[in-house]
Amino acid sequence: MKLFLFNLLLITAFKTYTVRYSMFSSWDMVSVQEIAHTFDFDYAISSRGVALSDPYGNIVTIDTVSSQLVVYGNKIDLPIVLKRRGNIKKFAIPADFWAQAFRILWQKYDRYIYWDVLNHNFFEIPYKPSIHRFLITHKFDTLVVKISYDKGLLPKVFTNSDTVKIWVKAGFYGGPCWIEGDHKLYQFARIKHARNGVAFKFRFYQSVGYRFKRVSDTLSVFKFFRKSGVGGGGSRVAGTRRERAAPRRKIKTIVVDAGHGGKDPGAIGYHGTLEKDIALAIAKKLKKELQKRGFKVILTRSRDRYLTLEQRTKIANDAHADLFISIHCNWNRKSIVGGTEVYFLSTAKTTWERAVAMRENASFMKYNGNKDKLNKLDAILLDMAQTEFLQESEDLAGYIQHGIVARTGLLNRGVKQAGFYVLYKVFMPAVLVETAFISNPVEERKLKNPDFQWRIARGIADGVVRFKSAYER
Ligand SMILES: [Zn+2]
Repeated sequence: MKLFLFNLLLITAFKTYTVRYSMFSSWDMVSVQEIAHTFDFDYAISSRGVALSDPYGNIVTIDTVSSQLVVYGNKIDLPIVLKRRGNIKKFAIPADFWAQAFRILWQKYDRYIYWDVLNHNFFEIPYKPSIHRFLITHKFDTLVVKISYDKGLLPKVFTNSDTVKIWVKAGFYGGPCWIEGDHKLYQFARIKHARNGVAFKFRFYQSVGYRFKRVSDTLSVFKFFRKSGVGGGGSRVAGTRRERAAPRRKIKTIVVDAGHGGKDPGAIGYHGTLEKDIALAIAKKLKKELQKRGFKVILTRSRDRYLTLEQRTKIANDAHADLFISIHCNWNRKSIVGGTEVYFLSTAKTTWERAVAMRENASFMKYNGNKDKLNKLDAILLDMAQTEFLQESEDLAGYIQHGIVARTGLLNRGVKQAGFYVLYKVFMPAVLVETAFISNPVEERKLKNPDFQWRIARGIADGVVRFKSAYER
């Protein structure tokens, strides 16, 4: 009965909102002005972004600094770096995210808005979403997806090598429109609506097989796993390398950048240790360690002095260095958090990555002054992401991460990616090493210990050597 009702609704009763949109990457983008005009919102501009107020007086905010949508205190990460340039009225975010925000705002009024990816307009259904839950979990190398729904619906699976689509006719899902992957099995999931139903689309790192079980008439469970034989279970890094045939440069000159310095102390430790001092101590040891292994090394600073962003990148580019390694210490308000993270430059995909980059970037904002200049760099970041250095930087980060963990036994927090200003304009493979947490009293004590600093330096050097041999082959 309900399905019959839906089929009728599909043809007749959906309210449509037509807006102007533009395409960016794979997203339909809709501007603040269009939303204000179409849905009768008021808006105000602040230094952090735009605040919109709906006809009922509910507020939704776009934070252009952190690239987040804030609805009732929920922070929703946007999948792209926002560019705040020119007229703020024309500032646009993906339509799917507007729809997601509206569903959160208007659930209490039984209004459910979706973006139609086929017709490129919003539509509204005055009924609760017919998909109740969409859950992603893991079991070893298997991704388990559970979908529960109204009686009468029937999910179907379509696969095409590394892409999987679960299609539910007459299905409508009120939750997120985009889910970040786990960096191991899948890159992301996107939830796309049209008037006839919803598609849950997954992009995997490699071809996957699946099993599918209809547990009851309201619950289906899908299991996706790597196809054996394809790539021999090789890692993503190895798989990518095999496809590349271009001859590589020799790796000879390395710029080691000790973070912060002078008037910029960086993070301050649990017992007052300064990040700038630890970064310099490790950078100097890393220089010696790399020289011992035959590299030419240039330090951006060899004493406690302040360097601007421009000075750091200029040193690296003028030297025509082959690698750039920036040394830092991590910080978290929870003193129990610990471990090592190595970053390469790309758009942050998680709140954690974004927070780490924001903290490091804040130093440059605070002591460098020129904010306009830094905002413009957001645009460069997107271009940079397409250069040849992206894959190399990610690989270098992986080798260094492994090297540090092997030498120190620190918790491996994994290779991460975010938009660090200090890496933006460096035209060579570049990574930023968050050695350990200065905010963790145990790790702070270790970081102050010269023996431990040597172990970190040797771990980084091990990683560089492995990277070199892999790349000069
Ligand atoms: Zn730092």
